[in-house]
Amino acid sequence: MAEGPPVSEAEAHDRALTKWGAPTVAEVSPPFARALARQELLRSPRWTAFEGRLGPEAREALASHRPSALASLSASRVAMFAACPYRYFLRNVQRLREWEEPGREAELDPRSLGNAFHDAARRVVAAAATWPPTSDEAERLAAVCAGEALVRHEAEHAPIVPGLIREISLRRLEALLSAWLRHESARGDGLRPLAAESPVGSREAPFVVDAGDFSVRFTGSIDRVDEDPDGRPARVIDYKVKLAPGFRKAFGEGRIAGGEAVQLPIYSLAAGGEVASEYLVLQAGNAATPTVETIGFSPDETREAVGSLRTFLAGMEAAIRSGAFPPRVETRLRKDPCAFCECADVCGPGHEDRFRAKDDDADPHVRALRALRDLP
Ligand code: SF4
Repeated sequence: MAEGPPVSEAEAHDRALTKWGAPTVAEVSPPFARALARQELLRSPRWTAFEGRLGPEAREALASHRPSALASLSASRVAMFAACPYRYFLRNVQRLREWEEPGREAELDPRSLGNAFHDAARRVVAAAATWPPTSDEAERLAAVCAGEALVRHEAEHAPIVPGLIREISLRRLEALLSAWLRHESARGDGLRPLAAESPVGSREAPFVVDAGDFSVRFTGSIDRVDEDPDGRPARVIDYKVKLAPGFRKAFGEGRIAGGEAVQLPIYSLAAGGEVASEYLVLQAGNAATPTVETIGFSPDETREAVGSLRTFLAGMEAAIRSGAFPPRVETRLRKDPCAFCECADVCGPGHEDRFRAKDDDADPHVRALRALRDLP
């Protein structure tokens, strides 16, 4: 041990720990005592307040965070709660925000690629003179709309540099659009876009979903509403841009996949009810050969999905009322959600194994929430 007086508070702590041990230091240092208690709780087999299982003292504050109490909710926020309630808690209750790096941006990350695709697809639908566009027109629209969407992305974020990386991002987006338009051309079902990015309610007048004993107000937008030859809404479509394959397989015969995919039932209700629905999944893993697959539901199947949605909303309401936001490190639709989670630093290194060990917690509210994962 160093001789003489310590040069900092940290060094004084270190010396005291070495000399007297942790329990003695905890008696005189409340912050150290709290850190020690947290270490103990992290090893507990149950979820604790450090992992989103809040106690009764938090219930009053949580009342305003129940879905029924919110001014509006979006489908993607409900899906976030299903995939990892703790991430939902950090983002929407604690209001944790991502650290924005100003200045330069490298290649489009998966989320940015998805956003740019949505923007470009909206531009394609608005600009197409016929549907589906002819192959020459499709090629032209893909090039023009990819360029416009990338310019908008850069204006809202940061320029993509260097130029070569920008070119790769542009080609990647264009390839996605071309693959999508080839898919549209091969459909031959007589439906055509009625609206792209069609609003679901508004801030002043959200769209209200009846969830049984309560109602939930939604805002957002439907990626696409298709109409039949008589001009009636016939199908709602939600685009999903994925890097890894397997989304369709993971979905199986499901309807809302345990709450992780609730866009279609919400959008079908907003579009007027008796419509078919579809997730159009673009798999963008390889820029040269993006693939397209669809997960489609008939109007009857979409109605079943609405039933599952209502069950899920009731469970979400109950979980938030009771302060249950336990983390999930594996979901039905994603094997590695933590790899792309902006909250991973909060959960800390090695959290996956620690959290897996707690996943069988018998707390009745946690169990009820776990049961929602099995919703079709
Ligand atoms: S890192 Fe994983 S467990 Fe932690 S909040 Fe994100 S998704 Fe949930």
